Amino acid sequence: MFKFLKRLRAKKEEADTLELATAETAEKAQTKASEAKQVIDKPEPSAAPAAAEAVSPREADEHKNPPASENAAQPDIESLPQEEAPDFTQEEIPTRDEQVIEVELPKRSLGDGIRSLFTSSLDIEDLEDILLLADFGVEASVEITEDLRRAAQKTGATSDAELRLLLKDLLVARLNREDSQLNLSDGKLPYVFLVVGVNGAGKTTTIGKLAKWLSDGEWEVVLGAADTFRAAAVDQLATWAERSGAGIVRPERDGQDPASVAYQTVELAIKNDADIAIIDTAGRLQNKKDLMDELGKIRRAVEKQAQINEVLLVIDATTGQNAISQAKAFTEVADVTGIVMTKLDGTAKGGIVYAIQKQLDLPVKLVGVGEGINDFAFFSAEEFAKGLVARKPGN
Ligand code: GDP
Ligand code: MG
Repeated sequence: MFKFLKRLRAKKEEADTLELATAETAEKAQTKASEAKQVIDKPEPSAAPAAAEAVSPREADEHKNPPASENAAQPDIESLPQEEAPDFTQEEIPTRDEQVIEVELPKRSLGDGIRSLFTSSLDIEDLEDILLLADFGVEASVEITEDLRRAAQKTGATSDAELRLLLKDLLVARLNREDSQLNLSDGKLPYVFLVVGVNGAGKTTTIGKLAKWLSDGEWEVVLGAADTFRAAAVDQLATWAERSGAGIVRPERDGQDPASVAYQTVELAIKNDADIAIIDTAGRLQNKKDLMDELGKIRRAVEKQAQINEVLLVIDATTGQNAISQAKAFTEVADVTGIVMTKLDGTAKGGIVYAIQKQLDLPVKLVGVGEGINDFAFFSAEEFAKGLVARKPGN
């Protein structure tokens, strides 16, 4: 189980009672709930800027095509007057206190999601080629093979089982990092995650999976559809929001400034006392300058109201070594804090996880192992290495 800090709020049973109760009892229960809420409420930020209209999750869900009001000009986040855009300094962002409780969330394991490197017994003579084919990269393939040879000589290991165990330990030692857990523990709520990466990498799907996992743990989640260029992308996120019970902020029209959607998402998260806002972004930007400009603008919009806890870079494991140059481009323009490797179910080239983590010097935090809502896991060097050296039936 992972321990995380979330907002303390009236218990779920109380909310359920509210829904079931008759009008009269509902009113009483509501008073009770709002009393309870007052105890844990933090100060509301000042009024919203012009068109950054807050929408409750349910309203937002129903608001498939909100009428574009002619007067409500889209707010340009960069030009919002300071007094209208609540500008939280670090000290003003709520810090850990009684409003926050430590909770556990179920661990999602890699299980059988990683394919073994070996179809027959482990032979050190073949290892370098096997690692190369699995996308470990040239340098790592040579080093790991040499390390295993040395370790085998030192320990006298010769059997297949002994060699697999040695290789597993060697991989774990090289992959273990202190910072591979999601940053959901500093108690400064709402947490904000930005999710970046090229189109098709699996950003929206990953957000859906995360939202479901958090909602299952009774976290209040708000999603932001800041990939505003394709209506289909927004609808896709809305479907995930519905499936996971999360709130969503949609753009008011196609192509709306992504930064203003990001701003509104955080604003709604604050207004609803949500625990976390997760912002989906577009990956279709033409060049590095566009990308830098857009992500920078989104970041500044978020930081007017909250801190950013994670910038997760989503990478498709099936794109192999190409993924590395793509990933480098993103790490140069966004302050990436962690990697999500998707589609590990679709590749025998699991070594890409190793290569990415080493070459970018960033922790792989999550992996995607399928298209389903539960098909993801928290990266664990131990489980990953075990999967790579596993002896599966038939090998
Ligand atoms: P985005 O453009 O980065 O938002 O990517 P999407 O979330 O739309 O995903 C693109 C495609 O990849 C979709 O068909 C997803 O179902 C699929 N996908 C995402 N994650 C995984 C994964 O872990 N495994 C598999 N097999 N497919 C995935
Ligand atoms: Mg998407």
